[in-house]
Amino acid sequence: MVATLSVPKVKLKNPPLHIYRMGDKVLRQPAKRISQVNDEIRQLARDMLQTMYSADGIGLAAPQVGVPKRLIVVDIYPDKPEVPPLVLINPEIREYLGETVAAQEGCLSIPGVFCEVLRAQGVVVSFKDESGRPRTIQADDLLARVIQHEIDHLNGVLFVDYVENELLLDQELRKHGFQMQDVQRRANPLAAPALKPR
Ligand code: ZN
Repeated sequence: MVATLSVPKVKLKNPPLHIYRMGDKVLRQPAKRISQVNDEIRQLARDMLQTMYSADGIGLAAPQVGVPKRLIVVDIYPDKPEVPPLVLINPEIREYLGETVAAQEGCLSIPGVFCEVLRAQGVVVSFKDESGRPRTIQADDLLARVIQHEIDHLNGVLFVDYVENELLLDQELRKHGFQMQDVQRRANPLAAPALKPR
C-alpha cells in the first residue's frame, strides 16, 4: 500500500496551520518521536504540506507549526505537480557524504533572513514514510540541505544559530524584525576540524 498524500501544490489564502516565528518557545523545544503512523499524523503531514506550499517553502518541520513531534515535510519541486513530496517521520541521519558546502539558507520561521550555512553535500537518512514504511534514502545537494535544516528544527536548532559573523547576523535580523537574543549561538558540527575533508 502506497499512501502518497495527494495535496495540490497551490497557495491557499487561508492555510490550515500557523507558522511560528523565531522567539516562540516551541521552536526551541526538542520534538518527540512518533510511535504510530496513523490518520492523525497523515492529516498533520497534509496540513503541513498545504501550509508550506502556501508560504512558498520547500521544507517544514512540525515544531514550526507548534507541534513538537518528529515529522518533517520536504518538496524541492513545488512547481512540478507530478513529483510527490517527501514525508519523513522520525528521520535520522545515518551518514554524511561528500564535502561540506556553504550556501544561503532561509527559513519560514525567520522570513526575510538569509545567511550562509555549511552543510554536508549529501546525507543518508532513515525514516518512516506516511504509510509507516521504514525507508532509507540518499539525498544530495539542495535536498540534502533541506533535510539537514529540517532535522535541526526537530532538535530545537535554527540555521541562524550557526552563523559566525555576529555583526552581520545582528544587522540581518533587525532588518526583518528579529532579535539577536533569540539566537542560540553554537558551533556548526560540520565546521569542526576533525570532520573537515583533507
Ligand atoms: Zn526552517
